[in-house]
Amino acid sequence: MNFLGRQEKLREDLAITRFDALLISHLPNIRYLCGFTGSAGFLLIEESGSVFFTDVRYDTQARAEVKGAKVIIARKAVLGALAEWVGARGKKSRGWSIGIESEHMTVAEKRRLTDLLPSGRRVRDASAIVERARMVKDPEELRNIRAAVQLGAGLFDRALEVLRPGVKETEVAAEMEHAARRAGAQEMSFPTIIASGARSALPHGRASEQAIAPGGFVVCDFGVILAGYCSDQTRTVWVGNGSNAAPKDARHAYESVREAQQAAIAAVRPGISVAEVDEAARKVLSRAALGRYFTHSTGHGVGLEIHEAPRVAAGQKEVLRPGMVITIEPGVYFPGKWGVRIEDMVAVSDTGCEVLTPTSKDFLAV
Ligand code: ZN
Ligand code: ZN
Repeated sequence: MNFLGRQEKLREDLAITRFDALLISHLPNIRYLCGFTGSAGFLLIEESGSVFFTDVRYDTQARAEVKGAKVIIARKAVLGALAEWVGARGKKSRGWSIGIESEHMTVAEKRRLTDLLPSGRRVRDASAIVERARMVKDPEELRNIRAAVQLGAGLFDRALEVLRPGVKETEVAAEMEHAARRAGAQEMSFPTIIASGARSALPHGRASEQAIAPGGFVVCDFGVILAGYCSDQTRTVWVGNGSNAAPKDARHAYESVREAQQAAIAAVRPGISVAEVDEAARKVLSRAALGRYFTHSTGHGVGLEIHEAPRVAAGQKEVLRPGMVITIEPGVYFPGKWGVRIEDMVAVSDTGCEVLTPTSKDFLAV
């Protein structure tokens, strides 16, 4: 990974924002910038160089993983060590300011840092600069994401082997998660959603003890983390045939969601805003008289985190660029009845997009 290049880019931003230093506290951002994968630390980025602060638990790991930054192991509080470092610098303190990740740092941490810093040095809120840089993936990241998507997609095949009437949602999830670990996944990117019957109308219905009953949809939304990168995919299947076959309204909903999803994918290309992608999906569902049942946004960025910028939603001004990876996941939900969602991951290319998720979207009854 090009950690030095990423830090360099941030330094250019630093010059524009007129911060003297940036304090990175959000762990995925730290990982992105210097490679550290542990659970505690701060990365200080200054014009003159970068310093990573962590505690003794991560002594060995930090020295092995951190690239492009000096490593300081704090014997006591990490923020204390950081303040000491900043205080010991010969620079004039008057007007010196450090930008913090206000979306991530706690109020208590900010107060502690302010108290610890020598007088004259200011703590100011910085915007989500690293998150913005992370939106566009480099070739190595895209490779990792592709591998995660491939592994994740294989889990749906496992789900179909076990998904039958009478089987509990948690049993299906357990089989998928077991298969994920066996295939080398570090962990699931979020708690697996297996939502059957009326629970399929809950956009985030985590697998429960409920036994899957014939005559309804099952929404399967799942993903894995591989080499730090997340996958995210949803498929919806109908349970039951013969007298339990999908009624006309269920088929209509499924085909409409599929069409909406395809329309949004077709809209993805460099230069288009995420709001326009959202609109492409919404238009299809509105035409099918299902617009008001599409209650969430069309998608989100995916990478080191399962939900990251940009949000693919109405009113969002972000413009797509090659290398961005987003989900396209329209759905419709009838409370108390059932719901349908179809989700793929796509990578914005130079001319359009590449659909990363390989799984069929044909209507499927088991
Ligand atoms: Zn999902
Ligand atoms: Zn998603």
